[in-house]
Amino acid sequence: MIKKGNVRDETLLASGGRDPESNYGIVNPPVYHASTITSPTLAEWRARDFTKDITYGRMGTPTQKALEEAVALVEGGDKAIAVSSGLAAITTAVSTFVESGDHILVTDSAYFPTRNFCNNVMAKYGVETTYYDPLIGGGIADLIQDNTKVVMTEAPGSQTFEVQDIPAISEAAHARGAVVINDNTWGTPLNFKSFDRGIDVSVHAATKYIVGHSDAMLGIIVTTNELYERILQNFRYWGQHGAPDDCYLGLRGLRTMGVRLKQHEFNALAVAEWLQGRPEVSSVLFPALPGDPGHELWKRDFEGAAGLFGVVLDEHYDDAALGAMLDGMELFAMGASWGGFESLILPAKPVRTATSWDAPGTLIRLHVGLEHPDDLVADLEAGFTRLKAVAG
Ligand SMILES: *Cc1c(COP(=O)(O)O)cnc(C)c1O
Repeated sequence: MIKKGNVRDETLLASGGRDPESNYGIVNPPVYHASTITSPTLAEWRARDFTKDITYGRMGTPTQKALEEAVALVEGGDKAIAVSSGLAAITTAVSTFVESGDHILVTDSAYFPTRNFCNNVMAKYGVETTYYDPLIGGGIADLIQDNTKVVMTEAPGSQTFEVQDIPAISEAAHARGAVVINDNTWGTPLNFKSFDRGIDVSVHAATKYIVGHSDAMLGIIVTTNELYERILQNFRYWGQHGAPDDCYLGLRGLRTMGVRLKQHEFNALAVAEWLQGRPEVSSVLFPALPGDPGHELWKRDFEGAAGLFGVVLDEHYDDAALGAMLDGMELFAMGASWGGFESLILPAKPVRTATSWDAPGTLIRLHVGLEHPDDLVADLEAGFTRLKAVAG
């Protein structure tokens, strides 16, 4: 049996959650489409534990369980829960641990919809949020109140890519009894081992690299045995669910995530290094680059990089110039999300309330896909020519 600590990550990616013997030897688990799950006898119906068994489609299917088992194994957690989206993973996890009168700490670099949830839903239920400097490290101890139940981290930060000192933040949070929830979407279950770094609950937009092909919405919460039951209970209260087809696509994506990520990282580094040498670029925000302010922490805590990073241009361009560049891109498409096989480009605008974020020029976000990096560089180079032609 494949177990935690038994074998290496690549083997877990290929084998976790599989049980061909229970299904005619077929390599992949089938997609169980289910709402109703019938009982053969009244006695069986009476004995059903609706909190645990496969009892109703919403409670989970064998397809969902296979994905959950595989992701938990890869990340090194005990248990996982698949939900309908990355944002649902965040909202389900955060709302598990708070009640009216409580307080949560959220990094100022958080994914914007996380902020929306805290400000509009948590606030409505009497839970107060304080945003903190992503680079605060152990200094977070000064912000923890007696009613602080959750500290939320995200590294590197959405849009701005600061690497947080998660072990230091976790230590300070645990000293005061707070649960640490990390948005590990960029880190992935492979490249950031949450449970070796003090995280209690790791949330993922599986929509990104786990699914990996831009064709499904999926979230996953990975946690410890200690916290699993509470999160599962809350998942059920909210009517959360991981759809069978999407769980299947997530599991299928997971099998190749390791090789895809290596290539995304290789391509991203090639494109990022080229960008660093361009006159149109003021800085590249990518912790995998030596010299990036987060590079040392990234090297200490991560086992690899995603293909997503920021680029600060040399000046602030208006939409006429930026449009000339972006509208003509052949390989980089404009669209939300990332983590698929294809390259993406978008203007970014960080929202900050606890800190300020200033840059000498327009910020753009690139997702470097699996195309050849030389072709991506040529696409960007032509884009810069169009940009400058309009900007003058
Ligand atoms: C995309 C994303 C999410 C949300 O995932 P969805 O599946 O789109 O709901 C959460 N966190 C981060 C860092 C993301 O990039």
